[in-house]
Amino acid sequence: MKNKKALIIGGGVIGLFTAFFLVKKGFDVTIIDDGPVPGLHSCSSGNAGMIVPSHFVPLANKGTLKEGLFGSFTPGSAFGINWSADAGLIRWLATFLRNSFSEMIPQKTETLAALHLESRDLFQLIQAADIPDLSLELTGLFMVSSTRESFEQGKRSAGQSNQLGIPAEIWSPEQFNALNPDLNAKLTGAVFYPLDGKVNPLPMLQNLASWLKARGVTIVENCSVTGWKATGNQVIAAISNDREFEADDFLICAGDRSGSIASLLGCEIPLQPGKGISFDCPNSGPVISHPTLLQDHHIAMTPYENHTRIAGNFLLGNRKNEISQDRLNRIHQSANHVFPGLKIPQPVSENSWAGFRPVSPDGMPIIGRSKKYSNLLTGTGHAMMGISLGPVSGSILSDLTAGIALKPEYNRFLAPSRFSNSF
Ligand SMILES: Cc1cc2nc3c(=O)[nH]c(=O)nc-3n(C[C@H](O)[C@H](O)[C@H](O)COP(=O)(O)OP(=O)(O)OC[C@H]3O[C@@H](n4cnc5c(N)ncnc54)[C@H](O)[C@@H]3O)c2cc1C
Repeated sequence: MKNKKALIIGGGVIGLFTAFFLVKKGFDVTIIDDGPVPGLHSCSSGNAGMIVPSHFVPLANKGTLKEGLFGSFTPGSAFGINWSADAGLIRWLATFLRNSFSEMIPQKTETLAALHLESRDLFQLIQAADIPDLSLELTGLFMVSSTRESFEQGKRSAGQSNQLGIPAEIWSPEQFNALNPDLNAKLTGAVFYPLDGKVNPLPMLQNLASWLKARGVTIVENCSVTGWKATGNQVIAAISNDREFEADDFLICAGDRSGSIASLLGCEIPLQPGKGISFDCPNSGPVISHPTLLQDHHIAMTPYENHTRIAGNFLLGNRKNEISQDRLNRIHQSANHVFPGLKIPQPVSENSWAGFRPVSPDGMPIIGRSKKYSNLLTGTGHAMMGISLGPVSGSILSDLTAGIALKPEYNRFLAPSRFSNSF
């Protein structure tokens, strides 16, 4: 019998892990991306690479509203909105607002925690059995606080985490400084999440793509999907200028642009881009011991062998590629203020990176099958957790493609139909 053909649009972390599990299920897989695979143009390449079971609270919650939407009016805030009269942005914000007060947040929290833990297990399995150079290191992660208020919040989150079965340890500034004596850290306290870890995103994606190619996956690079051919409730082909790509199943894994690709079929996926920036600083002096989040400044720092990646900012709406030197300076100043011993050199925008997180309006990924086209699926909306949730998302999407039923809670909180039936 001939293998079923799956066409994946998007060669970021979600598209590549989906391809991995589809290959395991015997599908004949093609991936199309409008850049190189992997490439620095995708959100999956220059991020902080953190594996974060600690991130179990969906982004749409009252805390984000306070800091994010209202903070966006504060000059210098790490959060911001590129306000525009775009009806999609206004609708998205209204849905985000509604979801921030949802009574279902506790159930969504449990689901996210389960997804992260399953993804962490899959990462370990894949690294042990298939791709030894996936770069996964389960080092644990610190969330450090510079104010009393954020440390109190950190302790409450640690309590909730322990209840969910994700261990969290409360550390005093003295304990943290004993582990990192050269950083001269200015902290009120820290929470350590031992199950968290890191990967090095670009090498991980390179090795994943090589594994796929070696197993016959066709990766079509620098090829933008610009249209579709469909009849009735069936998609026939994805179109890129004069080329047509036929398949049995079509999977949109195009990050923050998944919505615009779906709209070419009259389908809707409610997403907004959430721009973030990062830069690498060489490890020439003291190096931070663990992946670390600076809670009060919304900065992520991930140490690798030769460099430390420093990432931050969350600018919602309106895709603009340029990197503001002013925003880089603020990240640089905040990180140096908290860890003066690191002496981080001044970043410049030319050597920095920007990526657009695909942000859903309820803070949960969007993974599921279309109601309008029976052979169309999507996997997107991972916002700041796409690396961490890559393996589990790929596994779920491949199950759906193969007609395998999902756990009811995954269906309930991940299916695109939770917003409307317009996908
Ligand atoms: C600063 C920053 C730090 C982050 N840190 C972390 C972290 O520590 N841990 C974590 O888990 N997550 C983190 N994230 C989030 C993570 O990077 C994203 O959730 C994830 O990369 C999204 O992956 P994706 O595959 O959905 O999208 P992408 O990586 O953007 O991939 C989508 C691909 O589809 C392609 N595409 C789009 N349109 C078309 C088209 N029409 N035709 C063909 N191809 C198309 C794009 O070019 C792209 O290559 C961070 C993000 C940022 C910005």
